[in-house]
Amino acid sequence: MSLHVVNQASDLADLAGMAFVPTMGALHDGHLSLVRAGVEMGHPVIMSIYVNPTQFAPGEDFDAYPRPIDDDLAKAEAAGAQVVFVPDNSVMYPADEDIACPPLPSVATEPRLEDAHRPHFFTGVCKVVARLLDLVRPSHMIMGRKDYQQLLVLQSMVAADPGRWNNVEVVGCETIREPDGLAMSSRNAYLAESDRDRALGLTRAMQAASEVADAATAEHRMRTVLKEHDLRVDYAVVRDSHTLMPVTGSIHGHRALIAAHLDAVRLIDNQSI
Ligand code: AMP
Repeated sequence: MSLHVVNQASDLADLAGMAFVPTMGALHDGHLSLVRAGVEMGHPVIMSIYVNPTQFAPGEDFDAYPRPIDDDLAKAEAAGAQVVFVPDNSVMYPADEDIACPPLPSVATEPRLEDAHRPHFFTGVCKVVARLLDLVRPSHMIMGRKDYQQLLVLQSMVAADPGRWNNVEVVGCETIREPDGLAMSSRNAYLAESDRDRALGLTRAMQAASEVADAATAEHRMRTVLKEHDLRVDYAVVRDSHTLMPVTGSIHGHRALIAAHLDAVRLIDNQSI
């Protein structure tokens, strides 16, 4: 079946009940794994490609963000998507409609992780995903654990207002990595080949954290490894997998989360430890 590319809200009228994969494009195998997961679950899959201005702060990489739309459509089709929704700003945020952000759940404001370092971010993400869910009305929304706090925030947002989105189920899928362990990311396109070893500092730091028993030692080890790779750390922590708040006692079964800058490129990663 050939791919159906749509860009108006009215084009979605008969497409409710699909598995939905929201993205900002520049697709890689991480995004495509989400499409495949929907197909494997037995659902027709709709992907959206929209670089959402409201989740970027001034000075972040909104203008530079890669937008290879023809490549993206070919990849989405090859992975098994049936529909790709490519709205522009006037469809997402019409001038005559007030598109509101739902109340932010506590996991979007209390952990002091992405919320502390990108204060605009979850307001922008919740606003755009709420709008997309209103338009697409899927049965499932499939997301990556690569953006772990984002996944928990959106699961909480939907759980707080289940009737609005017809009990859509938010499904989290494992992070897809390059053979060397680097988490796939559209922003990896900003990395020079010579940066790759430094970028692996995140993976190596989480590995070091998984070898110890308590959060303080794990966090100290992560910072040491990140510094050895000449990365500037926003956070390198072990947190409760559900609340993202600090843990006491054994860290086994909790989550290591890192955000660090490789020069101008901000990288994030996480894993269960
Ligand atoms: P983005 O285009 O960066 O907004 O990401 C769209 C979706 O793809 C989000 O649910 C991300 O968590 C997910 N994603 C991004 N990178 C990966 C990856 N390496 N593995 C799995 N999912 C990913």
